[in-house]
Amino acid sequence: MFTDGEITKIFRALSFAADKHRRQRRKDSEQTPYINHPIKVVETLWSQGGVHELDVILACILHDTVEDTDASLAEIERVFGRAVSTLVAEVTDDKSLPKPERKRLQVERAPQLSHGAKLIRLADKAWNVYDVAYAPPAHWPFERRVEYLTWTERVVAGLRGCNSSLEDFYDAALRDAKIRLATDAQRA
Ligand code: NDP
Ligand code: ZN
Repeated sequence: MFTDGEITKIFRALSFAADKHRRQRRKDSEQTPYINHPIKVVETLWSQGGVHELDVILACILHDTVEDTDASLAEIERVFGRAVSTLVAEVTDDKSLPKPERKRLQVERAPQLSHGAKLIRLADKAWNVYDVAYAPPAHWPFERRVEYLTWTERVVAGLRGCNSSLEDFYDAALRDAKIRLATDAQRA
């Protein structure tokens, strides 16, 4: 069970992420508020994955703040501590690199991530797969959605063995997504 102080940290992370993402939307046609995504990912990590380690929960809530907002790792370290900022750093792409290189590095580095970072990555990829199927980025052609799913499979191959329930959750999301895309292709 979490102590009052630990629960306070969880609320602080939610508040921090909500503030940092406040002007952002996901890429779907409804422009879903960005914060919905880290909340879904952390809920899955907690309830599906049974992951109750505080630093991993905090880092999961914060997982897109450094990559997608003006938050810095130094700021995260100051507010949430070194262990959390290290986990966030592990799941943050270097945006100065060209996109194909970033995609390649995620695949290459997946097996070397810490256990906590693997769990966050896995829950994140499961929800991105779900989104690509049911709330895809507006204007993505069919092929790009398929390529995205295939790329996540390559990343997740390097994460396997860390949490079978989360892996099952990802596998189910991928199966559903493939069926959904096949249906979309038939309709087109
Ligand atoms: P992006 O990395 O640009 O976009 C996907 C990322 O956006 C996700 O990982 C997710 O990351 C975030 N996101 C926000 N909203 C959504 C949403 N509604 N659904 C899903 N993800 C969302 O995509 P890619 O560049 O990887 O494109 C996919 C594939 O298409 C690639 O394999 C690439 O080869 C190919 N392609 C790419 C082109 C390009 O210009 N990049 C052009 C043509 C093809 P998070 O959770 O971290 O926010
Ligand atoms: Zn994410």
